[in-house]
Amino acid sequence: YQRIVLAARPRGPVVAENFRLEQVAVPALADGEVLLRNHYLSLDPYMRGRMSAAKSYAASQALDETMIGNTVGQVVASRHADFAAGDYAAGLLGWAEMGAAHGSALRKLDIAQVPLSVYLGAAGMPGMAAWYGLTQIILPKAGETVVVSAASGAVGSVVGQLAKLRGCRVVGIAGGAAKCAHVRDVLGFDACVDYKAGRPEADLAAATPDGVDGIFENVGGATLDAALARTNAFARIALCGLIGGFNGQEMPLKNSRILLIKRLSLRGFIVTEHMELWPQGLQELAALVAAGQLKYHETIADGLAAAPQAFIGLLQGQNLGKQLVRLI
Ligand code: NDP
Repeated sequence: YQRIVLAARPRGPVVAENFRLEQVAVPALADGEVLLRNHYLSLDPYMRGRMSAAKSYAASQALDETMIGNTVGQVVASRHADFAAGDYAAGLLGWAEMGAAHGSALRKLDIAQVPLSVYLGAAGMPGMAAWYGLTQIILPKAGETVVVSAASGAVGSVVGQLAKLRGCRVVGIAGGAAKCAHVRDVLGFDACVDYKAGRPEADLAAATPDGVDGIFENVGGATLDAALARTNAFARIALCGLIGGFNGQEMPLKNSRILLIKRLSLRGFIVTEHMELWPQGLQELAALVAAGQLKYHETIADGLAAAPQAFIGLLQGQNLGKQLVRLI
């Protein structure tokens, strides 16, 4: 089967030459292991961090090894009591058409109500990041205003809809008129600021007449500054991601003074450090998807060979909603 390995660490923006497509043999299964055929690979911003050698919350991805990645697929063979051929499962099998993992590292999936691919998005890790930051850090009350950046993306789209369901006014920030129209008209946000339209601060001020009580931050830098400028006293900030600095750019904050003046609380989080909450969060997310109350959009690249370009596109904002690679 085919896999993609990290061939070289990026210097600045990610380029296709950072990756290498290889053919590898199907492994023999050890006791307890399961062999999966991956149907979808998830492309996520965190992979950019793993490609670099710089210190972060997780170790770097090794050179010449399969690129890390969340996958969903179907069991081909199993030496684990909980899995049988034909079962659907989520795992971390990487940028590869197939792979083996211990059964304890896989999550069995029920695709009767929720499509398989959605377990990589709204009902998977990105959905959980949205759920965690909103329900554990922002703690929104009905009537409050919540701002979310990268609003049309995998995480942001879920944040806004969950906050709407909790009775908040929700304002997104996204790049481009088409993304903003999607955020408003399909996802049901109250407003969306197109930060590429030239006057993000003024547009955000107009969209938040009652100020801002919660910020779900995915970008950082000027985007966070614009939201900070609108905060009410005791607003909460869930710092989920800093994609605006993914190529090593500095992200100075002009409005750090507001943290004091408005007595704000800001907390960063890594969703995979809170696995004890996943069953509760995933249950809520899957139920909302099944009921049609949580909308999602997917941008799907076809075939493993298309993954590097799709990943580069994700880091340039070319995706709408969850970026996936279809492998079958
Ligand atoms: P998205 O689906 O939102 O895709 C990334 C989006 O980010 C792009 O579409 C683009 O949207 C925006 N973007 C890309 N580059 C830039 C840039 N230089 N400046 C501003 N915006 C940019 O990705 P996810 O929903 O998967 O992830 C969103 C954020 O959440 C990321 O920061 C990610 O690292 C973080 N995250 C954190 C987790 C945690 O546990 N803390 C878990 C999961 C995700 P646009 O065109 O609107 O700019």
